[in-house]
Amino acid sequence: MSEKKRQWTDCLSSRGGRLYIEECDTVDLAKKFGSPLFVMSEKQLRENVREFQRAFQKHWPHGRVEVLPAFKANWNLATRKILSEEGAGADIYSRGELEGALMGGTAPQRISVNGGGKSEETIRRCIETGVLITVEDLDEPELIDRIAGELGKKAKIRFRVKPDFPNLHKRTDFAQEYASIDLGIQVYKSGIPAQYLRELGRKVLTMKNVELTGLHFHGGRHHQSLWYWKGMMKRFGLLIVDLCEYWGEPGRPFKLQQIDIGGGFASHRDPHNKLEYSAEIIFTWLTWPFVQLMRLMNAGLRYRLFDLIVKTMARIPYRGYAPTTEEYAEASLTALRSVLEKRLDLSDVTLQLEPGRRMYGNTGIHLTTIKKVKRQTRPMHMNWVLTDTTYFFLTGGVYEYNMHDFVVANRTEERETQIADIVGHSCYADRILPLVKIPDVTEGDVIAILETGAYQEVSASNFNALPRPAVVLVNGSHAELIKRAETMDDVYGRDIIPERLQSKTRVEAGNRA
Ligand SMILES: *Cc1c(COP(=O)(O)O)cnc(C)c1O
Repeated sequence: MSEKKRQWTDCLSSRGGRLYIEECDTVDLAKKFGSPLFVMSEKQLRENVREFQRAFQKHWPHGRVEVLPAFKANWNLATRKILSEEGAGADIYSRGELEGALMGGTAPQRISVNGGGKSEETIRRCIETGVLITVEDLDEPELIDRIAGELGKKAKIRFRVKPDFPNLHKRTDFAQEYASIDLGIQVYKSGIPAQYLRELGRKVLTMKNVELTGLHFHGGRHHQSLWYWKGMMKRFGLLIVDLCEYWGEPGRPFKLQQIDIGGGFASHRDPHNKLEYSAEIIFTWLTWPFVQLMRLMNAGLRYRLFDLIVKTMARIPYRGYAPTTEEYAEASLTALRSVLEKRLDLSDVTLQLEPGRRMYGNTGIHLTTIKKVKRQTRPMHMNWVLTDTTYFFLTGGVYEYNMHDFVVANRTEERETQIADIVGHSCYADRILPLVKIPDVTEGDVIAILETGAYQEVSASNFNALPRPAVVLVNGSHAELIKRAETMDDVYGRDIIPERLQSKTRVEAGNRA
């Protein structure tokens, strides 16, 4: 294990060559609960939410800070219960998430219901339960006002806004293309375009059954840097000032109850792995002529060159920690306050934030067992470490070009001796970790893919009719199942064979082809 990996400050440690999560041996966990397996640390989750609370409160002297972790990133009800115990709220997007957040004991006044096109039924449920409705659509306030009137209640709403960000010129990590963050935010569907906000707010302030309590903006993880957070908060702040001054009276701007800055703080061992811009230029401009040149070579030379390329591309995936939570808090809130404090009265204004990946990322690991090690030496060298998982169980990361850090859980002290592709067992290429340096592994070894607590388990699919893995929660030396693995009955459970197709099995069907 490299020196860098030893610098763990979280729930993972290496003891006697084995990887531990809290006080549990991960190899034992895979044996006891089955492989592949998602494992989560309760201690880490509690630490993360407390750290967010502490760090942001330190930089927001005006009022309370409320942490509303994004439910979508990890919606196990047990983990939600832990967050509820810690006093956290929830950012949710769908009706299903609303029910999950409520089942998980989340305080309704700290649930923010996002999303465009909310149905009447969803809005009714929101008002009945008393959650915050984060408005996306121009005609949504009217609908809310009518339903709230019918129910004899006052609905609390906020606008999800979409400021302009001419200052965010760097490249967004979300797009495959070289596109600026500014453009990335513009093409993203969410948020009410700034052009409508002034008048929409005026209208809402005349509605009887609706109370405008706050403004919300979520940009997401376009960039890991503090520069991004400073730039984003500055422009969000300017829009807040403009709207509050427009909605208020001269010298007495409209008073907000909450400002919600959304999520997008990079995960601790940020697995994001998009090519650096400089590398991209080399790849884009030099690959084509190079490939043409290689066509002129004989096969032997060509494959030797491939070998060389593969060797130079091999890497240890971990590439450095993201900024700390404290650094994110300081950068974002200093920028926001520098714009707001001059113009608005912020006393008793609650600051809300909605971390997803950074709340859950390092609370989870994914354990998988090696089924085969397959090698080829001709025409070029390749090693494949075939595991019992698949990147279809880690889909959230596939969408975001993730390259996770990993550890061979039963060989944490061994040196890396070879370059291999760690692959999954779907029929796709399924390169979970391409061209990584890895110790001399064998069948039955357990690999721990790190930083999988956010977006992975929730995005798993059943491709190749693979049953999705279980989730285990670790607390000290105690480990228990919080989501069981799927069975074959689960995989085929929603299928319906119409009666007319059920009667006879045609033994001779194959002969007719
Ligand atoms: C997804 C999402 C988040 C969380 O984003 P992260 O990048 O995981 O921190 C927060 N708020 C809203 C509205 C979201 O859609």
